[in-house]
Amino acid sequence: MRSKKETSLRQAIIDGCLRMNAEGMNQGTSGNISARYQDRMLITPSATPYAEMKPGMLASMSLDSVDDSWEGPLKPSTEWHFHRDILMNRPEAGAVVHLHAPFCTVLAIAHKAIPACHYMVACFGGNDVRCGGYARYGTPELSRIAVEALKDRTACLLANHGMIAIGDTLDKALWTAVELETLAKQYYHSLLIGGPVMLSDAKIDETLRAFSGYGLQD
Ligand code: 13P
Ligand code: ZN
Repeated sequence: MRSKKETSLRQAIIDGCLRMNAEGMNQGTSGNISARYQDRMLITPSATPYAEMKPGMLASMSLDSVDDSWEGPLKPSTEWHFHRDILMNRPEAGAVVHLHAPFCTVLAIAHKAIPACHYMVACFGGNDVRCGGYARYGTPELSRIAVEALKDRTACLLANHGMIAIGDTLDKALWTAVELETLAKQYYHSLLIGGPVMLSDAKIDETLRAFSGYGLQD
């Protein structure tokens, strides 16, 4: 018997997927979300329409060992490698959100990282949001790229693909995803009017210090 707590986390993952699609942050069955539950990862199944998803359809995988087996009626998302590796490498992370968010993906197609064009870049942990290199979806290589691009950050872009956001909770990871897409949209538009005036490292450091007392940092 599944606990009420686990069932409600599974439902919250589905609600997150539905919300991201409704807000234009993702399309169709692209994207995937995972969350830590005790020593396991709960993750959306592969290629399944979110409107038809039920809590029992999510897959569950161990975070204790690199055991590639899963529990569930459907195959886990093809991106289970990076979801699992991020949750294993970042003990502070409770959830991972991967989307093909339109403006993040436009920048990722152009292999453009997001620089310090707005003070909000600091809410991802530093003075930029990296764009990891290209590797085919679903591969262990893409996972290595993602873990590296997320070093000291809570978000990254994936070349010719999309983005990843993490958070201590699912709500925080979803919040981070929305903030990242907003910043990507602003940066993209600033490039169209001559390019941004960048903020210095000192100004970003000052913002990071201010955020630590503001509740934006984990
Ligand atoms: P899944 O449907 O397997 O989760 O794949 C979607 C995706 O975004 C692959 O990168
Ligand atoms: Zn994807």
